[in-house]
Amino acid sequence: MLNKKTVDDINVKGKRVLVRCDFNVPLIDGKITDENRLVAALPTIKKLINDGGKVILCSHLGKPKGEAKKDLSLAPVAARLSELLGQEVVFAADDNVVGEHAKEAVANMKDGDVVLLENTRFRPEETKNEDAFSKDLASLCDIFVNDAFGTAHRAHCSNVGVTKFVDTAVVGYLMEKEIAFLGNAVNDPKRPFVAILGGAKVSSKISVIENLLDKVDTLIIGGGMMFTFIKAMGGQIGKSLLEEDYLDYALKMIDKAKEKNVNLLLPVDVVIADDFSNDANRQTVKADAIPDGWMGLDIGPETEKIFADAVKDAKTVVWNGPMGTFEMPNFASGTKAVAKALANTDATTIIGGGDSAAAVNQLGFGDKMTHISTGGGASLEFLEGKELPGVAAANNK
Ligand code: AMP
Repeated sequence: MLNKKTVDDINVKGKRVLVRCDFNVPLIDGKITDENRLVAALPTIKKLINDGGKVILCSHLGKPKGEAKKDLSLAPVAARLSELLGQEVVFAADDNVVGEHAKEAVANMKDGDVVLLENTRFRPEETKNEDAFSKDLASLCDIFVNDAFGTAHRAHCSNVGVTKFVDTAVVGYLMEKEIAFLGNAVNDPKRPFVAILGGAKVSSKISVIENLLDKVDTLIIGGGMMFTFIKAMGGQIGKSLLEEDYLDYALKMIDKAKEKNVNLLLPVDVVIADDFSNDANRQTVKADAIPDGWMGLDIGPETEKIFADAVKDAKTVVWNGPMGTFEMPNFASGTKAVAKALANTDATTIIGGGDSAAAVNQLGFGDKMTHISTGGGASLEFLEGKELPGVAAANNK
């Protein structure tokens, strides 16, 4: 259970409420191409509007590296949010985020009004969590709400620093929901509990593998990281992705799985290519018999079946990371097969943000999943068993 105060524990009537959202959405030529994060933020925003708060929204977008960059302005988000909320969202277009526009807009707010500040990462202090910007943000509000799960694993001014200068700091509904789903899955799962890990590197998921081996009944490993495991077991992996420094670690994890009675599933066949390109020559071979000069870029059809079977009778499934280089259509089959298997199981299915969330949504399976996390990095750190600074900074119940 979350021991943090939430928007249900405060009275916002007539108060200025600064809400840290995650509006870090993909933009192409100023158009939002995936608005899931905006939609996910609506319940908290609507609640605060209905309760008569003066709702001041803020977020980062992309990596402007402490400078005002026009193509990373949140102006398109203000326009789309106005439509989604059915009321004007006033955009405070200050390059320094808390400038004349923001101050004036906030001073003119009536209860239930909404203002959106400019991209918090236009300020160089933001990612360094330096007080100057935290104080500026705090000067605009009486209450702070953090609803940005996607940035909860970072300690920045707009989600952590600001709480030093505001008496009341709580979490929003999205944060509460993310923590409830991920927390329940990991700490109190209905069994069998299956975790599926993919993506490029073992090194970026070491702690996740280690932590999950203490919790799951079955651990499935696909994606680029599988080859370090296959090589560690004596397989031939050609020029597939390999992290030599992690061969011992892979063996340790294989031992740990045995010790913990975890069913560790690795691919039995893979789709290989003679070049890292969608148009490369392709063939399907045994996962531990990849010829020299070839690299594995996807799991093979037999593996797709084994993985799909493993989730069929599961009660809880957590998935993070693609099964292959799914950005290349010729190597997307394994990732699609896993998405489909999750869509077809009765288990509670939790997608850990990032590439897997994008894949599930692109394939049209989004509404078949129990929960799609809005945070890739944050959900991974959660699966590692770490405390997220953005959550820790909120007031305790
Ligand atoms: P991550 O951010 O660690 O989840 O990695 C995602 C990336 O892993 C995607 O861009 C995939 O293209 C890449 N990936 C998945 N499988 C492979 C593979 N077999 N070889 C190289 N890259 C891969």
